[in-house]
Amino acid sequence: MNYTHESLDMKIVSALDKLCQIQRTLLWETGKKENLSPIQMQFLAYLSKYPSAMRRVSVMADEFGLTKATVSEALDSLDSKGLVKKIRAEEDKRSYVIELTRSGIAMIRKTDGWRGVLAAHAGRMAADEKRNAYNFMVRLIKSLHDDGIIRMARLCVSCGNYSGKGDGTFSCRLLDEVFPEDEMNIGCEYFNDRRAV
Ligand code: SF4
Repeated sequence: MNYTHESLDMKIVSALDKLCQIQRTLLWETGKKENLSPIQMQFLAYLSKYPSAMRRVSVMADEFGLTKATVSEALDSLDSKGLVKKIRAEEDKRSYVIELTRSGIAMIRKTDGWRGVLAAHAGRMAADEKRNAYNFMVRLIKSLHDDGIIRMARLCVSCGNYSGKGDGTFSCRLLDEVFPEDEMNIGCEYFNDRRAV
C-alpha cells in the first residue's frame, strides 16, 4: 500500500494543484473545438466583464501575471480570428483599449460552460462547507498578494475601501454598504490597491 504522509499544508497544495489541472482540462477540451487556447478563453471572459480602463494590455498583464508581450500575442491571435478589436483610447491616442466583437461575445456564450461544470459540483456541498472553503481561498489569495507573489488580487480584504467591523461584516467605503464577511467580492472592478497608496 502506498500512502503519502504529507502535512495538511502540503495536502492543500496537492488539492489545489489537482483543481488547477481539472480547470486546464476543461478549458482545453472546450477551447480545442473552437481553436482557442485556455488563456485566450480566459481573456475573452475577462474582456466581457471589465470596463475600458481595465481592457488594456498593461493592465491585463498585471491581472494575469503575464508579460505584455504574451498578452499582446494572445490578443493579436484573437484579433485575427475576428473575436476582438483594438480601439484607440480617447484620452491617450498612443494606447489601445481592447473590445469584444459580436463574434467574440457569441464565442463566450459557446465556450463559458466549463465554469458551470465546476459550479454544479460546488453546488452539491453543504452551505457551511462552501462558506469555509471560500473564506479559506480568499485568505490564501490575500496572503500571496500581501507577500507580492501575485501582482493583483482584487479582493475586498486587500482593498483600500475595505473596513472590517469585527462582527462578521465589513463595509465598503466606495459603495457605502455593509456586507457579510463571507460575501466578499473577488475580481471587483473598483478594487483600490492599498499597496499602491
Ligand atoms: S471597492 Fe470592491 S473590492 Fe473594494 S471593498 Fe468595495 S466591493 Fe470590495
